[in-house]
Amino acid sequence: MSQPRDQFLSDAASATADAPQRDFLRKALGGYYTSRDTQKARYRDWEHARDAAALAKWNAVNRLDRSLTTFAANFERNGGKVHWARNGAEARAIISQICRDAGAKAVIKSKCMTTEEIHLNDALEAEGYGVVESDLGEFIQQLRKEPPFHFVFPCMHLKREAISELFTKHLGTAATDSPEELTMIARRHLRQLYVDADVGISGANFLVAETGQVSITENEGNARLTCALPRVHIALAGIEKVIDKLEDLAVLLPMLATAGAGQPMTCYNTLYTGPRQPGEPDGPTEFHVVLLDNKRTALLADPEQRDALHCIRCGACLNVCPIFKNIGGFAYGTTYQGPIGSVLTPHLRGLKNWNHLSGASSLCGACTEACPVRIDLHHHLLHNRRNAALAHASWFDRIFHGSFGWVIARPRVFALGGRIFRKTLPLLRRLPLPYLGTWLKTRDLPEPPAKSFRDQWKDTNR
Ligand code: SF4
Repeated sequence: MSQPRDQFLSDAASATADAPQRDFLRKALGGYYTSRDTQKARYRDWEHARDAAALAKWNAVNRLDRSLTTFAANFERNGGKVHWARNGAEARAIISQICRDAGAKAVIKSKCMTTEEIHLNDALEAEGYGVVESDLGEFIQQLRKEPPFHFVFPCMHLKREAISELFTKHLGTAATDSPEELTMIARRHLRQLYVDADVGISGANFLVAETGQVSITENEGNARLTCALPRVHIALAGIEKVIDKLEDLAVLLPMLATAGAGQPMTCYNTLYTGPRQPGEPDGPTEFHVVLLDNKRTALLADPEQRDALHCIRCGACLNVCPIFKNIGGFAYGTTYQGPIGSVLTPHLRGLKNWNHLSGASSLCGACTEACPVRIDLHHHLLHNRRNAALAHASWFDRIFHGSFGWVIARPRVFALGGRIFRKTLPLLRRLPLPYLGTWLKTRDLPEPPAKSFRDQWKDTNR
């Protein structure tokens, strides 16, 4: 199997060579920029709102031990059941057991990237459960047997003709290029599946500690049906999803919608308090929350980068990233794409094999500027580069960069080195140096000027 780095380089090169697809992505995001800026302008002070959102997350994440136990106690007081999973395997085992105990056959899901992170669908399908994605984008990706392209807009890379062909092939429907009709086809197909499902699985956008509620924000209403109709509900959430107070949602929900999709608010915002109570007409009779660690506490222990746990998965950093716009979502090979994915994945899957993602950035800082909770994304990418260099650099890199560091710290040696480099460059170009060859595959090595800046400065100020 190819290494993640090699796969990334190969997939990124193919995606970058696909000019029509890049053009399509850029056009798709064009509408987002316009509506996001319109909504941002409606805030009295967007920067102040970012401060408030960042503070809400900081408060919860920096007191995670208390926030989580408060959430768990309050949720269980409301009749729900909380499960703690140290890793993906434990979370999968817990969810499988709940499905078994429920005597389930069919499972319906609403959009949840945490289930993608632990490969839940594969595990449930291997045990014989029929698992159906109910979010339109996820449903389309499930039919295509592809992961989400973007963690907020799973099929943003597809034109409507491709979706129409897909529906014709799998659902036997007539071809159409009407987005409304395509949506109705999916809706008609899914409607009965909600009724037939024994278990509904969702994620959680936020877990409110003080009330023990699960907050889910969505545009299609599919999460509401997933939570309301099956008799058992399971919400899988990373432990960083907890917030302290209900009033924190007043800033976080609109910021999430504006930054992520250019909406003032997402269409449906629901707070789930637990299972159906006596006298209530609908809702599950069992409501489970599975809290997933999966290396999040290790990230929490890193004082430099723990604010990556503040992420509310709005996707804004992907939408503005020049790398994402060129290579798209699949090339990353990760659950979370774009800048936040490049920060998180080395923590979740190991720096040694995933450090190359830290290089998938121009360090322009657009991601940091777009982030509604002020995560210092481009500096974290630099931190990961540094950490990888300290921990995993090859002997060649260590000698090369060590020598270079030694030279540039000594002005006279550096000046002499510059002169030697200018004289020997024609020869260097012809030598089969592996390092230089790799470097030059994707970069130019321009002719150096006849005189260095230092010499020119001396001449000018003589
Ligand atoms: S890092 Fe910030 S911009 Fe990126 S998805 Fe998370 S909250 Fe949104």
